[in-house]
Amino acid sequence: MKTISTYNFRGKRALIRVDFNVPLNKATMEVTDATRIKAAIPTIKKVLNDGGSVVLMSHMGRPKNVPEPIFSLKNIISEIEKHLGHSVSFASDCIGERAFEKSAALQAGEVLLLENLRFHQREKKGGEDFAELLAKHGDVYINDAFGTAHRAHASTTVVTKFFPNDKMFGYLIEKEIESVDKVLNSTQKPLTAIVGGAKVSSKITIITKLLDKVDSLIIGGGMAYTFAKAMGGKVGNSLIENDFLETAKEIITEAKAKNVKLLIPIDTVASDEFSDEAETQICSTHAIPDGWMGLDIGDNAAEAFKAEILASKLILWNGPMGVFEMSKFQKGTKEIALAVAEATENGAFSLVGGGDSVAAVNKFNLANRVSHVSTGGGAMLEYLEGKQLPGIAAILND
Ligand code: AMP
Repeated sequence: MKTISTYNFRGKRALIRVDFNVPLNKATMEVTDATRIKAAIPTIKKVLNDGGSVVLMSHMGRPKNVPEPIFSLKNIISEIEKHLGHSVSFASDCIGERAFEKSAALQAGEVLLLENLRFHQREKKGGEDFAELLAKHGDVYINDAFGTAHRAHASTTVVTKFFPNDKMFGYLIEKEIESVDKVLNSTQKPLTAIVGGAKVSSKITIITKLLDKVDSLIIGGGMAYTFAKAMGGKVGNSLIENDFLETAKEIITEAKAKNVKLLIPIDTVASDEFSDEAETQICSTHAIPDGWMGLDIGDNAAEAFKAEILASKLILWNGPMGVFEMSKFQKGTKEIALAVAEATENGAFSLVGGGDSVAAVNKFNLANRVSHVSTGGGAMLEYLEGKQLPGIAAILND
């Protein structure tokens, strides 16, 4: 398999699938979080510095298979230029005649951005004819879109057929793969996984998979209350998935059998309504009064989690500890983020993956103090679950 660091792009046009699916302010159309753009810059620069040219392709949002101005990648050209420090030209239909003229005329050091791939329904359907047209834009294909690597779309998977000898991962995907492999396959110990977020149902596969790997499993966020109830606790009006009580019991039993230390929050910040203006009280996670709901972990829980995190050599964090979007319920998530940062500074390797925990480390300005922040939410989860991602398999397999 070819790798980007050893490939010489001199005189080559690199067709790079990036993930520029960034959030925009609907009123000003400005990019509100450029993490994904910044993450793709090293790959683009490598091609340009070698003396190659670049054709960027991406999706953005969920257009209904036709051009919609709010999903036009035109809106993000200036943001790309700002982070790249280089001008970027634009083709307003990714497979239009003008697009092919522009990509054919590219000179070394030039960058062309193609319009949103999802303005064509053949992108998501994985259309081979569409992929073949996209392939005409480059001499070599690089996939650096980890966020869509779990989709078998034309630009992420099918297109590789047309580059049998010249396909590779960009630096970003390389780093994502390396980070997950490091957490799941390293012999370093102890390994602690912190899993939070709203529901047990969406994290069950990953929790089950992690039980075979981790020394400690910390459960926080809304899902902790299903565990507390399964243990016989009273959880008031907290978020509960009654259909998953049995599953939670099985996880508790399996953790014991596999010698995994399972931590659920000792105490909880309970609230009388789902609002930043609500009344709150601290109570045991197992004794939440009726009419009150747990919306954050308490200080004792944060202390216990912190001690476990600081004693770890490898840390995986997915999902917030509470409703961190509201200032009243952000403290638990912040304490955990700080503990992960501190453990990293003490020499641990930490991987933060999954949409909301990434939003949390960014909110608390801690992204630079953990080892790796994943750019792929669903893709990261599926990769951690041990699934073969089509976008990754398409590069690895000949
Ligand atoms: P997920 O996408 O499953 O990781 O869930 C993230 C969401 O879970 C965030 O929007 C949080 O506000 C929410 N969340 C975290 N803790 C709780 C809780 N105790 N009750 C309700 N929602 C929560």
